[in-house]
Amino acid sequence: MKPNSCSIFIKLLVLQYLSVLCVSQDFDFFYFVQQWPGAYCDTKQHSCCYPKTGKPAADFGIHGLWPNYRDGGYPSNCDPNSRFDRSEISDLIGTLEKEWPTLSCPSNDGTKFWTHEWVKHGTCSESELDQREYFQAALKLKQKANLLQALTNAGIKPNDEFYELQDIRDAIKEAVGFTPGIECNTDSSRNSQLYQIYLCVDTSGSDFIKCPLLPSSRCGSSIQFPKF
Ligand code: 5GP
Ligand code: 5GP
Repeated sequence: MKPNSCSIFIKLLVLQYLSVLCVSQDFDFFYFVQQWPGAYCDTKQHSCCYPKTGKPAADFGIHGLWPNYRDGGYPSNCDPNSRFDRSEISDLIGTLEKEWPTLSCPSNDGTKFWTHEWVKHGTCSESELDQREYFQAALKLKQKANLLQALTNAGIKPNDEFYELQDIRDAIKEAVGFTPGIECNTDSSRNSQLYQIYLCVDTSGSDFIKCPLLPSSRCGSSIQFPKF
């Protein structure tokens, strides 16, 4: 090979390597995070506002689908060129309002929350899921993991009573097949309460998997399940 064609060949090889790096998935798994609205609203840190569409049902709502690394780190804000485009998911909006309601103030229609989640987290899994697929994946996962049903079946209800953290974990493991991560926050009387439930999902966004790493829980051994 002449030196000139040799250097072109090497450049092509490098380009091919870089393109493989770009399209290959660049995270290890997703956390699928659901929040209990009663615990979001019931803290000292902030108040909550019901969305413009009205008070959400007394059910867990989606917080997000977050690409994560196995070592606990995570990528964020991966594509400054990708904006949240409501028109791409117009047929999903009604379901998002029900299953992914926003509780932040001032009261709004959810677009801010979904935009934030897409820009911060969704853009980091674009190698696997485009915007439509990303929101659709989250909605399907919520259907697959009916957390309130799982807890109710085990006699654990949102009635301001205290429950053993381990019983909550067991009830969800029984229903979903894998041990969840549980995150607590504190209410205005400093009670530790059930705030968010983390499940791990494979990089295609479709199946629950055993968590490579559970998030730290910040829960007492007995926690309150607040009313909403
Ligand atoms: P906090 O500090 O309230 O736990 O989390 C604030 C935000 O950081 C979350 O809403 C989420 O966007 C991001 N975050 C926190 N923990 C994790 C994590 O373990 N994985 C990922 N991917 N994002 C996280
Ligand atoms: P993360 O914690 O995922 O970075 O993002 C939370 C952001 O979404 C915050 O800026 C928060 O104000 C906004 N947000 C809007 N609605 C909700 C909600 O219902 N729950 C939570 N946790 N954050 C919300």
